[in-house]
Amino acid sequence: MKHDWVDPKATEEAANEENAADKISANLAHLCEKLQELQAYASSLGIFTNDRELLTCPACGLQEDVTIEGMLITHNCEYPDASDSGLRFTELRADLFACPNCGVHISFVGGDFFWSQP
Ligand SMILES: [Zn+2]
Repeated sequence: MKHDWVDPKATEEAANEENAADKISANLAHLCEKLQELQAYASSLGIFTNDRELLTCPACGLQEDVTIEGMLITHNCEYPDASDSGLRFTELRADLFACPNCGVHISFVGGDFFWSQP
């Protein structure tokens, strides 16, 4: 008759490693949640969080830009030194935005902007 011998120390080490992995996973999930909160807070302050491309409306030329302080602004693309228009693109859903100046819908696909009438 064969007996399988299990080293109790090895079993305990495996359980400890599993607990450590669970703690790391829980900490990473908590960290990701906090990062999302921080990103939402930064966006609410008007800071560009670099989570997407800067938008340019192909229809009217309204363009997003970022100041040296990191603030998201818009201006006409033909006047890059113009001050902030105060207008902000509205995100309708992932990768689909509405231009606040002319109202067209803008999507960013494959490195290019496409627009359509709403
Ligand atoms: Zn526009």
